[in-house]
Parts: sequence; C-alpha cells; structure tokens
Amino acid sequence: MLPVVALVGRPNVGKSTLFNRLTRTRDALVADFPGLTRDRKYGQADYDGYQFIVIDTAGVHGDEEGIDKEMASQSLRAIDEADVVLFMVDARDGITSADLGIAKHLRSIGKKAYVVANKIDGIDAEAAQADFYELGLGEVYGIAAAHGRGVESLLHKCFTPLLDDYPDMSVARSSTAGELDEEAEPEDLAHDEIDYDALPLKLAIVGRPNVGKSTLTNRILGEKRVVVFDMPGTTRDSIYIPMERDGREYILIDTAGVRRRGKIDETVEKFSVIKTLQAIEDANVVICVLDARETVSDQDLNLIGFALNAGRSIVIAVNKWDGLSQDHKEEIKRELDRRLGFVDFARVHFISALHGSGVGNLFESVLEAYASATQRVGTSKLTRILEMAVDEHQPPLVRGRRVKLKYAHAGGYNPPRIIIHGNQVKDLPGAYQRYLINYFRKSLGVMGTPIKVEFRESE
Ligand code: GDP
Ligand code: GDP
Repeated sequence: MLPVVALVGRPNVGKSTLFNRLTRTRDALVADFPGLTRDRKYGQADYDGYQFIVIDTAGVHGDEEGIDKEMASQSLRAIDEADVVLFMVDARDGITSADLGIAKHLRSIGKKAYVVANKIDGIDAEAAQADFYELGLGEVYGIAAAHGRGVESLLHKCFTPLLDDYPDMSVARSSTAGELDEEAEPEDLAHDEIDYDALPLKLAIVGRPNVGKSTLTNRILGEKRVVVFDMPGTTRDSIYIPMERDGREYILIDTAGVRRRGKIDETVEKFSVIKTLQAIEDANVVICVLDARETVSDQDLNLIGFALNAGRSIVIAVNKWDGLSQDHKEEIKRELDRRLGFVDFARVHFISALHGSGVGNLFESVLEAYASATQRVGTSKLTRILEMAVDEHQPPLVRGRRVKLKYAHAGGYNPPRIIIHGNQVKDLPGAYQRYLINYFRKSLGVMGTPIKVEFRESE
C-alpha cells in the first residue's frame, strides 16, 4: 500500500506544476468515469526515494460563501481519500479570502494539512511565508514547485510520520518482495530461496465501472462459501478474499466490493480510483477487464498503463463476449489490435463472466504471467542473450566510439529487472534500449509482464 497525497488550493497557485514534478509522467489517470466527479487527476509519484499516489484537484474558486459547495464537489473527495493534504497557497499573492475559506474547512475536518507557500523563487521567502501562519494550520513550508526548491524537505516532513504505516513507500528500504541488490550476483542471493510457487498469488481484478468485475469475481469464487472479514469500510479499501484453484493458493483483491452487496454502505460510490490503484500496487498479477460492448477508452488504456508502470503482470479480459455477431467480434478485435499495441506482450482473453465461458483459461495466462515475472535467469544466460543481441545488431557509435555492452545479470524479479554493464551506456539511444528489451523478452519467453532494463557504466 502507498500513501495518498492530495493537492488542494485555489486555481493558479501551482498545483499542476507540483503534480507534474512529483509524477514526471503525462499518463495521469483522470477521474472522468461516469457517475464520478470530474476534475481530479491521479498520478503515481516516485520522488526522492518515496513512492506515493498523488491527487491533483482543479482548484477551489474565490467566494467564501460558495466554498463549502465547491469543496464538496471535488476537493472534498480528494481530501477524504488522502493521508496527507498539501494546502497550496501563492507566496506572492499573500492570503486571499479563498485561502481563508479553505483553511477554515481544513481546520473543521481535523485532517493533517500542510500549508505550502509556492513560488518563493526570487522573493523574500521568509517574509512571504510568515503571512500564512494566520491561516491557523501551523508551520508554513516554502517551495518553488517550478524549480523543485523545498520539495524534498516538505515531503520528508510529511512522510516521516507515515513510514511505519506504509513500509513500501520508501524505495530505499527495499522491502518489496522480489527486489534484489542490483550489484550482487544472483547466485548468492537469499531471494533465490523464495519459493514463489508456494506463496499465495495476489490477483487484482480491475476495470471501469460496469465492465463486469463483480460478475467475474462471483464467477471465479463460484458457489463456494468464503469467509470474509469485513474490513473497516472506507471506500479506499478493497476486499481480500483467499481462495484455492487447482491446488494453488490465491488472494483475490476485489475492487468492486462484491461481498459488500446488501450492506447499507452499498450506496457509497462503488468505484474508486484510489482503491483501484492501491489494488494494482498490491497485486502480483492484474486482470484488466474491458467491456466488449464499449469502445476501448482512454481510461482503459490508462489503467493498463498504470499497471505496467507499477511493474505488474497483466492479463486482459474482454468481457461480455456472449451474444455478439461474428462481424461485431471481428470489428472489436481490429480495434483492440490497434489500441493495445503497447501491451502486445499481454494475453488477451475473450470471456463471458455471465455465462462463465473463457474464465478458466484466464487462469492459465495468470499463472504464465506470474511464472514469467518470477523466473530466475543466471548471469551466464543473460550475458549470452546480450551477446547474441549485439551480434545481430551492433550498438551505435557515439562521438566516434562504439557503445560497448559487456555483461548482464538479474537485478530483481516481479517485475524482472535486467542490469546491463558496459561503456558509454548513458548514450545508448531509446530505440536500441527497446530493441534490447524486446530481444530479452523473446529469448526468455516472457509473457504478460513488463521487463525493466537498466544500464551501468563499467569502470
Ligand atoms: P494550478 O492552477 O494550481 O494547477 O496552477 P499551475 O500549476 O497551473 O500554475 C499556475 C502558474 O504559476 C503557472 O503559470 C506556473 O508556471 C506558475 N508557477 C507554478 N509554480 C511556480 C513556481 O514555483 N514559481 C513561479 N515563479 N511560478 C510558478
Ligand atoms: P462492475 O461494475 O465492473 O463490477 O460490473 P458488474 O459485474 O456489476 O456488471 C455490470 C453489468 O454488466 C451487469 O448488468 C452484469 O449483469 C453485466 N454483465 C457482466 N458480465 C457480463 C457478460 O459476460 N455478458 C453480458 N452480456 N453482461 C454482463
């Protein structure tokens, strides 16, 4: 699990700028699912050794009277989902009435909020910051989101109290299962003693609302009675259901909240982006469910992209495949080919959760993807593959010298990481890096899981 940070404040204080700095990616998830409030952007942040989820809100507008309503419409939800609220103000403007309105609201809900005075570049930062103590929320942290100044110490301040609750967030601690010391030789590693087959496989079922996640979950669980411990019910929590299939242990991460059906809190918004993102983070393999009767949306692609960025193995299930005409099916397949090119290494299954067809085969791909993600490959084999790749296609010349790739070893599993040592590797063009990734993928027969290749300069 990763902590969630919400950025709130009036427009133009620099929320998007900070969001972009923290996520350094353009494929943020925008919560524009039907029935959900728009204007919230979700991103995966990896900054200064911390991993977390960040929510950007469009901003709360001016007038004090409308403030509660505005807050309710979007920021409120983000605040509700967050562990940490960064309340951003503009150090150059001083306090505005909108700032006072937001501060009042934050004080009233009693959630830990940090006042962040942005744009301290080129001004007297201390004098500007002093102004904002009047907001009554304690310490004021000065930053320049555009340049990164002050961001590290701000994060350090807000995350230190959370480290015990979120041990996975600190990359440096390397507590994530399957991480290896990148410099060590795989043969020596205690991790090689992990018997991945004996561990329960954590399987998350994710997708937009109404694609059929609940139906699929029920289908997988069958009529078997499962004991589910009702967890304290916030909308952020998925339900973890232990199950067995063909002698193998699984933990099904249910983002759709099937087992809560009939409970009073069913009216609570069933779909939550945070819940989905947390489930992906926590899973070994993710089944991304698409609806055959809907065109592939950007949201579908964003979810898949998020899972890949997180290094998760994925299987794609195109649901509601029942009752479609042959022509319609062909058309859907063409569309999928066109739009899912970036995950051509993932298996695609056409299923009917309602009738059960194709559901059994899903599990073959789930196991295959998991096996790919955890397979062990020794240094000599990886180096041999590297040599073959280089033989077939020489790395380019850089400033008259050829980039030299010397040897490769495993840097971790789940997802597989391959470390390549050589000279001038920093100059290796992206196209050649992708060539190597594809070459390793084919040679190792890796399906359904992203491969990460990293380069190290040899002395
Ligand atoms: P949002 O509406 O709160 O998301 O604000 P934006 O991130 O869009 O920023 C509003 C404006 O402030 C833009 O013109 C940014 O370039 C500018 N800005 C953001 N951060 C900084 C900063 O650290 N220093 C300065 N000088 N300008 C900034
Ligand atoms: P969720 O929001 O993703 O959990 O979606 P649900 O499982 O609640 O399903 C949404 C709707 O799609 C319901 O009316 C289901 O009966 C229907 N549905 C689910 N799977 C299938 C399927 O395989 N075929 C058809 N025709 N309908 C389905």
